[in-house]
Amino acid sequence: MVVVKTIKEVRETVKQWRREGLTVGFVPTMGYLHEGHQSLIRAAGENDRVVVSIFVNPMQFGPTEDLATYPRDLEHDKEKCSEAGADLIFAPEVSEMYEDNFQSYVDMNLLTEELCGLTRPCHFRGVCTVVSKLFNIVKPDRAYFGKKDAQQLAVIKRMAADLNMDIEIIGCPIIREDDGLAKSSRNTYLNADERKAALVLSQAVRKAEELITSGVRNSAEIISAMSALIDAEPLAKTDYIKIVSLDTMQQIPEIDNGALVALAVYIGKTRLIDNYFYEGK
Ligand code: AMP
Repeated sequence: MVVVKTIKEVRETVKQWRREGLTVGFVPTMGYLHEGHQSLIRAAGENDRVVVSIFVNPMQFGPTEDLATYPRDLEHDKEKCSEAGADLIFAPEVSEMYEDNFQSYVDMNLLTEELCGLTRPCHFRGVCTVVSKLFNIVKPDRAYFGKKDAQQLAVIKRMAADLNMDIEIIGCPIIREDDGLAKSSRNTYLNADERKAALVLSQAVRKAEELITSGVRNSAEIISAMSALIDAEPLAKTDYIKIVSLDTMQQIPEIDNGALVALAVYIGKTRLIDNYFYEGK
């Protein structure tokens, strides 16, 4: 496994692989890797070669968010990548990705209006822009994204289709801790009490799954049962709990054929997300 910091080195390596007729899978990340990221790297192993990018993208953070404190540890990440079978890590500096006179952005309507797009303005503009750039640098056959960031997955699929990117976008299941908490680099912010309190997210998701599986279709009823669980935890403060259409990411009053139940909750100062994909019948 090699670690490179420049766009030129990625391009030269990938070009050589292409000359050899090899396929390339790509996993974009912000680093501080855990088993969730490793599951994507392993899934990307269906290609001949796997590229992982590690880049904490300033453009997708709001001015009051955790860009400065976001955990970074390249040595730890190298081990996790190598364990999971990556061939190349691309870990650029901010200056390598954004020249001083950078002016171009990729943006999206509709799908970015609700959920994290509503409470994190400009977040998806940053995500779409950096992922487009990374796609242009790596030029993979397939790219792998976690269902943990369900809206992001929908946005990237839409972007790839709208902009005729010749890349297959593959969604991978949420990897959880044994007690149900979805794995996240941000879990490292939690102290012992907050770590316990954070279980309300997965409990609320399970509650939604139970209700939907038992035939409940009214969104307000499901959201109210989830809210009751979150509100009972003193360290938790709801950012949003919403049920949206899988196609438009807009809220739906009744679940018809498939829906995304998504929530974002502050545990102390840490904002965590979780969701349940109902694929419909
Ligand atoms: P991040 O480093 O948080 O930007 O995440 C990079 C990729 O890993 C995204 O596609 C995430 O959806 C995915 N990911 C993060 N946590 C998990 C998890 N617990 N299970 C599955 N995928 C995940």
